[in-house]
Amino acid sequence: MIASDLDTAVARLQELVAGARRIVPFTGAGISTECGIPDFRSPGGLWSRNQPIAFEDFLASQDMRDESWRRRFAMEEHFAAAKPGRGHRALASLYRSGKVPAVVTQNIDNLHQASGIAPADVVELHGNTTYAVCLGCARRYELAWVRERFEANGHHAPDCACGGHIKTATISFGQAMPADAMQRAEELARACDLFLAIGSSLVVWPAAGFPLMAKRNGAVLVIINREPTEFDEAADLVVHADIGAVLAPFIAD
Ligand code: NAD
Repeated sequence: MIASDLDTAVARLQELVAGARRIVPFTGAGISTECGIPDFRSPGGLWSRNQPIAFEDFLASQDMRDESWRRRFAMEEHFAAAKPGRGHRALASLYRSGKVPAVVTQNIDNLHQASGIAPADVVELHGNTTYAVCLGCARRYELAWVRERFEANGHHAPDCACGGHIKTATISFGQAMPADAMQRAEELARACDLFLAIGSSLVVWPAAGFPLMAKRNGAVLVIINREPTEFDEAADLVVHADIGAVLAPFIAD
Protein backbone atom coordinates (compact mmCIF):
# COMPACT_ATOMS: atom_id res chain seq x y z
CA MET A 1 0.00 0.00 0.00
CA ILE A 2 1.38 3.41 -0.95
CA ALA A 3 0.47 5.98 1.68
CA SER A 4 -1.63 8.72 0.12
CA ASP A 5 -0.36 11.54 2.32
CA LEU A 6 2.04 12.25 5.15
CA ASP A 7 -0.53 12.12 7.97
CA THR A 8 -1.86 8.75 6.82
CA ALA A 9 1.68 7.43 6.50
CA VAL A 10 2.69 8.56 9.99
CA ALA A 11 -0.51 7.20 11.57
CA ARG A 12 -0.04 3.78 9.92
CA LEU A 13 3.62 3.69 10.87
CA GLN A 14 2.77 4.54 14.46
CA GLU A 15 0.35 1.59 14.55
CA LEU A 16 2.95 -0.75 13.07
CA VAL A 17 5.64 0.41 15.50
CA ALA A 18 3.26 0.08 18.46
CA GLY A 19 2.34 -3.47 17.44
CA ALA A 20 5.88 -4.66 16.72
CA ARG A 21 8.16 -6.47 19.14
CA ARG A 22 11.42 -6.37 17.20
CA ILE A 23 12.04 -3.62 14.67
CA VAL A 24 15.03 -3.56 12.34
CA PRO A 25 15.76 -0.30 10.51
CA PHE A 26 17.86 -0.57 7.38
CA THR A 27 19.16 2.80 6.24
CA GLY A 28 20.71 4.30 3.11
CA ALA A 29 22.12 7.63 2.04
CA GLY A 30 18.65 9.27 2.00
CA ILE A 31 18.52 9.47 5.81
CA SER A 32 21.61 11.70 5.80
CA THR A 33 20.80 14.15 3.00
CA GLU A 34 19.15 16.55 5.45
CA CYS A 35 22.44 16.49 7.38
CA GLY A 36 24.27 17.94 4.37
CA ILE A 37 25.74 14.72 2.97
CA PRO A 38 24.63 14.19 -0.63
CA ASP A 39 23.35 10.75 -1.64
CA PHE A 40 24.52 8.88 -4.74
CA ARG A 41 21.52 8.65 -6.98
CA SER A 42 19.33 11.70 -6.44
CA PRO A 43 19.67 14.35 -9.16
CA GLY A 44 22.88 16.23 -8.37
CA GLY A 45 24.00 13.37 -6.09
CA LEU A 46 27.58 12.18 -5.90
CA TRP A 47 27.00 9.63 -8.67
CA SER A 48 26.31 12.32 -11.26
CA ARG A 49 29.59 14.06 -10.38
CA ASN A 50 32.02 11.18 -9.90
CA GLN A 51 31.78 7.53 -10.81
CA PRO A 52 32.98 5.53 -7.82
CA ILE A 53 36.53 4.16 -7.89
CA ALA A 54 36.44 0.36 -7.97
CA PHE A 55 38.56 -1.54 -5.47
CA GLU A 56 40.77 -3.13 -8.14
CA ASP A 57 41.56 0.31 -9.56
CA PHE A 58 42.43 1.64 -6.10
CA LEU A 59 44.83 -1.28 -5.66
CA ALA A 60 46.28 -1.02 -9.15
CA SER A 61 47.31 2.60 -9.35
CA GLN A 62 48.86 5.34 -7.24
CA ASP A 63 46.91 7.87 -9.36
CA MET A 64 43.64 6.24 -8.35
CA ARG A 65 44.64 6.20 -4.68
CA ASP A 66 45.59 9.88 -4.94
CA GLU A 67 42.25 10.66 -6.61
CA SER A 68 40.33 8.64 -4.07
CA TRP A 69 41.90 10.58 -1.18
CA ARG A 70 41.50 13.91 -3.00
CA ARG A 71 37.75 13.24 -3.27
CA ARG A 72 37.55 12.14 0.34
CA PHE A 73 39.22 15.29 1.64
CA ALA A 74 37.01 17.40 -0.66
CA MET A 75 33.99 15.85 1.12
CA GLU A 76 35.44 16.34 4.59
CA GLU A 77 33.69 19.63 5.23
CA HIS A 78 30.34 17.84 4.66
CA PHE A 79 31.21 14.84 6.81
CA ALA A 80 32.88 16.81 9.61
CA ALA A 81 29.97 19.25 9.94
CA ALA A 82 27.19 16.66 9.75
CA LYS A 83 25.05 16.09 12.83
CA PRO A 84 22.38 13.39 13.18
CA GLY A 85 19.12 14.34 11.47
CA ARG A 86 15.51 13.72 12.45
CA GLY A 87 15.60 10.21 11.01
CA HIS A 88 18.69 9.27 13.02
CA ARG A 89 17.22 10.75 16.19
CA ALA A 90 13.92 8.91 15.72
CA LEU A 91 15.72 5.58 15.28
CA ALA A 92 17.85 6.31 18.34
CA SER A 93 14.63 6.90 20.31
CA LEU A 94 13.21 3.55 19.16
CA TYR A 95 16.53 1.92 20.06
CA ARG A 96 16.38 3.36 23.56
CA SER A 97 12.78 2.12 23.90
CA GLY A 98 14.14 -1.42 23.51
CA LYS A 99 12.28 -2.33 20.32
CA VAL A 100 15.23 -1.84 17.98
CA PRO A 101 18.07 -4.28 18.73
CA ALA A 102 20.38 -2.76 16.11
CA VAL A 103 20.40 -0.64 12.96
CA VAL A 104 21.66 -2.06 9.69
CA THR A 105 23.12 0.64 7.49
CA GLN A 106 24.66 1.09 4.08
CA ASN A 107 25.89 4.47 5.23
CA ILE A 108 29.49 5.23 5.98
CA ASP A 109 28.99 8.54 7.78
CA ASN A 110 28.97 7.43 11.45
CA LEU A 111 25.76 9.39 12.12
CA HIS A 112 23.87 6.51 13.76
CA GLN A 113 26.66 6.21 16.31
CA ALA A 114 26.61 10.00 16.75
CA SER A 115 22.86 9.82 17.47
CA GLY A 116 23.51 7.63 20.52
CA ILE A 117 23.26 4.09 19.19
CA ALA A 118 26.07 1.94 20.63
CA PRO A 119 28.72 1.32 17.95
CA ALA A 120 28.29 -2.43 18.49
CA ASP A 121 24.63 -2.06 17.48
CA VAL A 122 25.31 -0.24 14.21
CA VAL A 123 25.81 -2.91 11.58
CA GLU A 124 27.81 -1.22 8.83
CA LEU A 125 27.53 -3.11 5.55
CA HIS A 126 29.74 -0.68 3.63
CA GLY A 127 32.14 0.33 6.37
CA ASN A 128 32.92 3.79 7.74
CA THR A 129 34.58 6.75 6.08
CA THR A 130 35.46 8.65 9.24
CA TYR A 131 38.70 6.72 9.69
CA ALA A 132 41.10 4.68 7.55
CA VAL A 133 42.77 1.28 7.65
CA CYS A 134 45.83 -0.32 6.11
CA LEU A 135 44.74 -2.96 3.61
CA GLY A 136 47.87 -4.95 4.46
CA CYS A 137 48.03 -5.14 8.26
CA ALA A 138 44.61 -3.67 9.22
CA ARG A 139 46.20 -0.94 11.36
CA ARG A 140 43.83 1.96 11.97
CA TYR A 141 44.74 5.47 10.83
CA GLU A 142 43.00 8.76 11.58
CA LEU A 143 42.11 10.94 8.61
CA ALA A 144 44.09 13.90 9.96
CA TRP A 145 47.24 11.76 9.91
CA VAL A 146 46.62 10.72 6.30
CA ARG A 147 45.79 14.27 5.25
CA GLU A 148 48.93 15.74 6.76
CA ARG A 149 51.11 13.34 4.77
CA PHE A 150 48.98 13.65 1.62
CA GLU A 151 49.40 17.42 1.62
CA ALA A 152 53.08 17.35 2.58
CA ASN A 153 53.80 14.88 -0.19
CA GLY A 154 52.45 16.66 -3.30
CA HIS A 155 48.95 15.16 -2.92
CA HIS A 156 50.10 11.57 -3.03
CA ALA A 157 48.39 8.97 -0.87
CA PRO A 158 50.70 7.64 1.84
CA ASP A 159 51.25 3.93 2.45
CA CYS A 160 51.53 2.13 5.79
CA ALA A 161 54.90 1.32 7.32
CA CYS A 162 54.16 -2.32 6.41
CA GLY A 163 53.95 -1.32 2.73
CA GLY A 164 50.17 -1.81 2.51
CA HIS A 165 47.89 0.82 1.02
CA ILE A 166 45.85 3.00 3.36
CA LYS A 167 42.16 3.37 2.46
CA THR A 168 39.11 4.79 4.19
CA ALA A 169 37.48 1.99 6.17
CA THR A 170 34.76 1.67 3.54
CA ILE A 171 33.76 -1.12 1.18
CA SER A 172 34.29 -0.14 -2.46
CA PHE A 173 32.66 -1.75 -5.47
CA GLY A 174 34.54 -4.99 -6.06
CA GLN A 175 35.75 -5.26 -2.46
CA ALA A 176 34.68 -8.19 -0.28
CA MET A 177 31.72 -7.49 1.98
CA PRO A 178 32.45 -7.63 5.73
CA ALA A 179 31.46 -11.18 6.70
CA ASP A 180 30.52 -10.40 10.32
CA ALA A 181 28.28 -7.48 9.38
CA MET A 182 26.59 -9.48 6.62
CA GLN A 183 25.89 -12.35 8.99
CA ARG A 184 24.54 -10.07 11.72
CA ALA A 185 22.33 -8.23 9.22
CA GLU A 186 20.94 -11.53 8.00
CA GLU A 187 20.17 -12.68 11.54
CA LEU A 188 18.46 -9.37 12.28
CA ALA A 189 16.44 -9.45 9.04
CA ARG A 190 15.27 -13.00 9.71
CA ALA A 191 14.31 -12.41 13.34
CA CYS A 192 12.37 -9.14 13.19
CA ASP A 193 8.65 -8.58 12.84
CA LEU A 194 8.95 -5.06 11.37
CA PHE A 195 11.63 -4.09 8.85
CA LEU A 196 12.00 -0.43 7.91
CA ALA A 197 13.93 0.30 4.69
CA ILE A 198 14.72 4.01 4.92
CA GLY A 199 16.37 6.22 2.31
CA SER A 200 17.82 3.61 0.02
CA SER A 201 17.33 3.22 -3.72
CA LEU A 202 17.73 -0.53 -3.00
CA VAL A 203 19.90 -1.11 -6.04
CA VAL A 204 23.25 -1.85 -4.39
CA TRP A 205 23.64 -5.59 -3.85
CA PRO A 206 23.95 -7.66 -1.76
CA ALA A 207 22.68 -5.09 0.76
CA ALA A 208 19.44 -4.62 -1.20
CA GLY A 209 18.51 -8.24 -0.51
CA PHE A 210 17.75 -7.70 3.18
CA PRO A 211 14.27 -6.12 2.88
CA LEU A 212 12.96 -9.10 0.90
CA MET A 213 14.71 -11.53 3.21
CA ALA A 214 12.85 -9.98 6.13
CA LYS A 215 9.55 -10.02 4.26
CA ARG A 216 9.94 -13.67 3.29
CA ASN A 217 10.58 -14.51 6.93
CA GLY A 218 7.30 -12.99 7.99
CA ALA A 219 8.18 -9.40 8.83
CA VAL A 220 6.01 -6.46 7.86
CA LEU A 221 8.03 -4.45 5.32
CA VAL A 222 7.90 -0.65 5.23
CA ILE A 223 9.79 1.39 2.61
CA ILE A 224 10.32 5.09 3.22
CA ASN A 225 11.97 6.78 0.25
CA ARG A 226 11.28 9.89 -1.78
CA GLU A 227 11.50 7.95 -5.04
CA PRO A 228 9.97 4.59 -5.91
CA THR A 229 12.13 1.47 -5.54
CA GLU A 230 11.79 -1.82 -7.32
CA PHE A 231 10.70 -3.43 -4.04
CA ASP A 232 7.72 -1.15 -3.48
CA GLU A 233 5.31 -3.82 -4.69
CA ALA A 234 6.54 -6.26 -2.07
CA ALA A 235 6.14 -3.79 0.78
CA ASP A 236 3.19 -3.59 3.17
CA LEU A 237 3.55 0.17 3.46
CA VAL A 238 5.35 2.50 1.05
CA VAL A 239 5.92 6.13 1.93
CA HIS A 240 7.18 8.43 -0.82
CA ALA A 241 8.00 11.43 1.35
CA ASP A 242 10.77 13.20 3.17
CA ILE A 243 12.33 10.91 5.79
CA GLY A 244 12.77 13.66 8.37
CA ALA A 245 9.10 14.60 8.12
CA VAL A 246 7.92 10.98 8.38
CA LEU A 247 10.13 10.06 11.33
CA ALA A 248 10.09 13.29 13.34
CA PRO A 249 6.99 12.16 15.34
CA PHE A 250 9.04 9.20 16.63
CA ILE A 251 11.68 11.41 18.29
CA ALA A 252 11.25 10.94 22.01
CA ASP A 253 13.85 13.32 23.47
P1 NAD B 1 21.23 6.05 -3.04
O1 NAD B 1 21.85 7.35 -3.29
O2 NAD B 1 21.29 5.01 -4.10
O3 NAD B 1 19.68 6.24 -2.70
C1 NAD B 1 19.27 7.20 -1.78
C2 NAD B 1 17.76 7.29 -1.87
O4 NAD B 1 17.33 8.15 -0.85
C3 NAD B 1 17.28 7.84 -3.21
O5 NAD B 1 16.37 6.92 -3.80
C4 NAD B 1 16.59 9.17 -2.83
O6 NAD B 1 15.39 9.35 -3.53
C5 NAD B 1 16.29 8.96 -1.37
N1 NAD B 1 16.32 10.20 -0.58
C6 NAD B 1 17.31 11.14 -0.53
N2 NAD B 1 17.02 12.08 0.39
C7 NAD B 1 15.81 11.74 0.90
C8 NAD B 1 14.95 12.32 1.88
N3 NAD B 1 15.29 13.44 2.54
N4 NAD B 1 13.77 11.73 2.15
C9 NAD B 1 13.41 10.59 1.49
N5 NAD B 1 14.17 9.99 0.58
C10 NAD B 1 15.36 10.55 0.29
O7 NAD B 1 21.79 5.52 -1.66
P2 NAD B 1 21.93 4.04 -1.10
O8 NAD B 1 20.74 3.22 -1.49
O9 NAD B 1 22.27 4.19 0.32
O10 NAD B 1 23.17 3.43 -1.89
C11 NAD B 1 24.30 4.18 -2.17
C12 NAD B 1 25.60 3.71 -1.56
O11 NAD B 1 26.38 4.87 -1.39
C13 NAD B 1 25.47 3.12 -0.21
O12 NAD B 1 25.97 1.85 -0.28
C14 NAD B 1 26.34 3.95 0.73
O13 NAD B 1 27.41 3.17 1.21
C15 NAD B 1 26.97 5.01 -0.12
N6 NAD B 1 26.70 6.40 0.31
C16 NAD B 1 26.64 6.69 1.64
C17 NAD B 1 26.41 8.00 2.06
C18 NAD B 1 26.36 8.27 3.54
O14 NAD B 1 27.00 7.56 4.31
N7 NAD B 1 25.62 9.28 3.99
C19 NAD B 1 26.21 9.02 1.12
C20 NAD B 1 26.29 8.68 -0.25
C21 NAD B 1 26.53 7.36 -0.63
